[in-house]
Amino acid sequence: MHITLDAVRELDRQDPLSGFKSQFALPEGILYLDGNSLGAQPVAARGAVADTMDQWRDELIKSWNQGWFDAPERLGNLLAPLLGASEGEVIITDNITLNLYKLLGYITDQHRDGRRVVLSEGGNFPTDGYIAQGFCRLSGHEHRFLPEGTELTEQLGDVAVVVLSHVNYRTGKLRDMAEITRQVHSQGAEVIWDLAHSAGALPISLNDCGVRYAVGCTYKYLNGGPGAPAFLYTHREYQDAGWQPLTGWHGHAAPFAFDENYVPADDITRFRTGTHSALIYSALEASLTMWTEVDMTSLRTKSLRLTELFRDCLADLLAPYGIEDITPETDERGSQVALIDKENGFAIIQALIARGVIGDYREPGLLRFGFTPLYLSYEDVWQAAQHVRDVLESGEYKDPRFNVRTSVT
Ligand SMILES: *Cc1c(COP(=O)(O)O)cnc(C)c1O
Repeated sequence: MHITLDAVRELDRQDPLSGFKSQFALPEGILYLDGNSLGAQPVAARGAVADTMDQWRDELIKSWNQGWFDAPERLGNLLAPLLGASEGEVIITDNITLNLYKLLGYITDQHRDGRRVVLSEGGNFPTDGYIAQGFCRLSGHEHRFLPEGTELTEQLGDVAVVVLSHVNYRTGKLRDMAEITRQVHSQGAEVIWDLAHSAGALPISLNDCGVRYAVGCTYKYLNGGPGAPAFLYTHREYQDAGWQPLTGWHGHAAPFAFDENYVPADDITRFRTGTHSALIYSALEASLTMWTEVDMTSLRTKSLRLTELFRDCLADLLAPYGIEDITPETDERGSQVALIDKENGFAIIQALIARGVIGDYREPGLLRFGFTPLYLSYEDVWQAAQHVRDVLESGEYKDPRFNVRTSVT
């Protein structure tokens, strides 16, 4: 490899984000390149969850008035600056799948102008299409796919809503949020942005891009913990229109009036449904508190340098092993590197995991490596690339034990 260990250590010495690594509880001997699936554990999360256990024990039901009930809004406000959103525009609730359903219902309830189509993109994370199909089946809308990899050039005359990922989960390709939002709105349709692979991965400017609706998760780049709740953003001017379809008591204008009839809250709390888990909110709050210290411009710079370093270290290996690098160029890249090897991709990832280098495999043939600038150093990335080289050059991945499939991949 032409890049020396000394050179990457020098990059680490100059890294303004290097102090964050000690705020994560990372296991010894692991190089974790899967923070885009499940983020690592912030050191502060354990104490925060333990405190909530104590609060439950000592304060019992009173705890709901001591920060539990309003956690969805409080945490939403902690997250908002990272998304370029304002106070009162983000709520932490449920998961992406449910939040997409809520927004599809909310938008189509307002726009009854004969637009019957819900458009979602082929090649996106499947739940986005699945939930759009389920929604359409119940509501009588028609679901269509925007073919994978195509731009949004088709006429949107009959389209009510488009669901798009900001960063594609497979390729890591970043869409132009401002321009696409403008195009969709100019054609009288709405767009819901899915920020699963951009929140915590790069700077986002929802307000400045004119975005009205977005969702995203907190257990990937935002380190909220397994099953941490998702977020839902609605621009302030669009919060008091139709009903969202999951009309639960927490989204009621007066949840503790116990009225018989549903009246939606007139703000972002309308998108709440029912009781949430105080425990996982406390883990997430610990992480989001840390995130308030992060300079997103430095994060983006480091993210691009890490992905570039990994690619540079592997560049000479790709052709000899028949591996294709489909990572987008820098201004269209999220925070991941995507390689394709349809024949051996699964086994290569398993062989790397056995060495403590954790990336992941997605059908068909995709080797996916996520880069999380808060807890990955340049040296980590250099070492990880060295392992990839060793796995390939030694032929280690050909061992039959690396072809055994488990239920979660
Ligand atoms: C990870 C991911 C999801 C996950 O949805 P959940 O309902 O939170 O499980 C949804 N959409 C995209 C684009 C994702 O990457």
